[in-house]
Amino acid sequence: MANRENLYTINHLTVEYHTRLGILRAVDDLTFEIKRGEVLGLVGESGCGKSTLGKALMRMIEEPGKIVSGELNFDGIDIMQLPEAQMRELRGSRISMIFQDPLTSLNPVQKVVEHLTETIQAHESHVSDKAARARAAELVDRLGISSNRLDDYPHQLSGGMRQRTMISLALSLRADLVIADEATTSLDVIVEAQFLDLLRELRDEFDLTILLITHNIGIVAQLADRIAIMYAARLAEIGGIHNCFFAPKHPYSQGLLQSVPTIKLEELDLYQMAGSPPDLTHPPSGCRFHPRCPKVMDVCSQLTPTLKSIEPNWNVNCWLYEEIPEHLAADAKTP
Ligand code: SF4
Repeated sequence: MANRENLYTINHLTVEYHTRLGILRAVDDLTFEIKRGEVLGLVGESGCGKSTLGKALMRMIEEPGKIVSGELNFDGIDIMQLPEAQMRELRGSRISMIFQDPLTSLNPVQKVVEHLTETIQAHESHVSDKAARARAAELVDRLGISSNRLDDYPHQLSGGMRQRTMISLALSLRADLVIADEATTSLDVIVEAQFLDLLRELRDEFDLTILLITHNIGIVAQLADRIAIMYAARLAEIGGIHNCFFAPKHPYSQGLLQSVPTIKLEELDLYQMAGSPPDLTHPPSGCRFHPRCPKVMDVCSQLTPTLKSIEPNWNVNCWLYEEIPEHLAADAKTP
């Protein structure tokens, strides 16, 4: 059944890849929700599982990867049980994705108009060529690209225009949820700022829900309503931007946010977190952050913490916020 507050509910999602070095669990038992109309920022270091999670939400994990367990409920639809033909229909029409590099995501031998009309007509076969072209013109115009450029090939467009073409593709079927995966990585700072303004406008105008996957926390701070911080395939913390960004609780979130550059002169020496993310084919026991954590306790390497609510809409996955079993509590610290 559809939930009025949550557009997408994810329960105990686990995704694994079978590699030569062993089984790599890229997403490990994640449970969270994406609320209707929100921008949820998903951040974390490279390799923490963000992009795998984005693809799993569209059921686009390819061999040697596999969703091994979990429930995905999108607006009342059981995504895991949906036949592939219906899933294909849902991709694009209800959930769409803006990929990292528009130049490699767009077909170099197809004109902008062909990308758009093909997408529209693949999902709405009754739409005539003329009507599809008119809709494509209206869309690109809305995104600040002159309709004169419809017959251009991707290489004839600037980086910003290609990114806008990707957005127009994502919006061409009026999806409810747009997943933007590192969508600003290939843009310069000016075009990036324009892209963020545009996403903000489109969110309000089309009532979009956006999952913004990025390693750039500054972008999330500008645009997101909530932030989910991932570390080594698990959620470290999730909550409102004002809580998690300005007063993070998890030691990893704290380190991550302290290492964001600021323009304050007295903070020219950037904080550097000790160590590096673990190899996910052989992750550390207990809390995966324990080899790097400045607040590590005995319990941390022995037992895995769970995501606990510390306030409404604010959850943290750390033993500092969970009751420690008595036999391991000798060196317990306070948050
Ligand atoms: Fe640090 Fe322990 Fe919390 Fe992990 S569970 S973040 S090691 S204090």
